[in-house]
Amino acid sequence: MTADAHTDHDPALEPDRPGIAAEPEQVRAWWQALELPGLFDVHVHFMAPAIQRAVWAVFDSAGPKLGRPWPIRYRLEVDERVELLRSFGLRRFSGLPYAHKPGVAAYLNDWAREFAQQVPESLWSATFYPEDDAPTYVGELVSAGVEVFKVHVQVGEFPLDAPELDPVWGILAEAGTPVVIHAGSGPVPGEHTGPRSLAAVLAKHPALTAIVAHLGAPEYAEFLALAARHPRVHLDTTMVFTEFFSEGGGFPADLQPRLVDLQDRILLGSDFPAIPYPYLHQLESLERLGLGEDWLRAVCWHNGARLFGAEPRAI
Ligand SMILES: [Zn+2]
Repeated sequence: MTADAHTDHDPALEPDRPGIAAEPEQVRAWWQALELPGLFDVHVHFMAPAIQRAVWAVFDSAGPKLGRPWPIRYRLEVDERVELLRSFGLRRFSGLPYAHKPGVAAYLNDWAREFAQQVPESLWSATFYPEDDAPTYVGELVSAGVEVFKVHVQVGEFPLDAPELDPVWGILAEAGTPVVIHAGSGPVPGEHTGPRSLAAVLAKHPALTAIVAHLGAPEYAEFLALAARHPRVHLDTTMVFTEFFSEGGGFPADLQPRLVDLQDRILLGSDFPAIPYPYLHQLESLERLGLGEDWLRAVCWHNGARLFGAEPRAI
């Protein structure tokens, strides 16, 4: 990676992560038992170091946007994180930057583009913000072959149906480029969180390939209903069903049949690296749902491979 990619390492913040050396073998044993070629994780973050540091500072503060302590298990350098994911057997994974204010998306996207070039199995990821030049840079990235976008409603503090974004949704819907959208009101609600603004966008752009992050937590029922109405809407499992995420109630048991109905549109997500538990815990918490091996195979590999392609990008 670039020289400054190494500056996000602060030994003073070194977390306690016993057992990390044993994790690769444990994770590989999990997916090998399902006879999969590996894992496809659509919700991984790799961000420009200056922004990554700012994001981790928010996590470390356990401030009002999180509402609780949030230890970061994989606070490693960029290269170390890539190698760890490879050792887990992640054959494809995203990089998902997200902008918290106007004017920073281009910076994030430039770094993400360089990252994608150096890590061919990563999904080339980008972000956008409601600002005048968003349709221009989104259009350019789509033409150049970007594979996925990410937006974060609570962090960005904007509604998805902001007028500046209307042409952006049009571009993405027409191109079929997926966008991971964190719009649910977890972990802490914001002024614009919740299903309303995504419903408004889908009413106008029904072909949009939206991937609802965290299964829409905590508005699971509303986001699952949006997916039932719109065949291009997918959902990712990120942090859902884990013990950490379930402390406030978690996914309602009576909605579990909907996870089976939507089996082909649920995608493994982890939120690596900013998770407070071992990566394997996300996988085991999916297994504990008891929805069967075919469901796990679809979610952890086949659905992502179908949506994005199983093979690394040619670079
Ligand atoms: Zn995330």
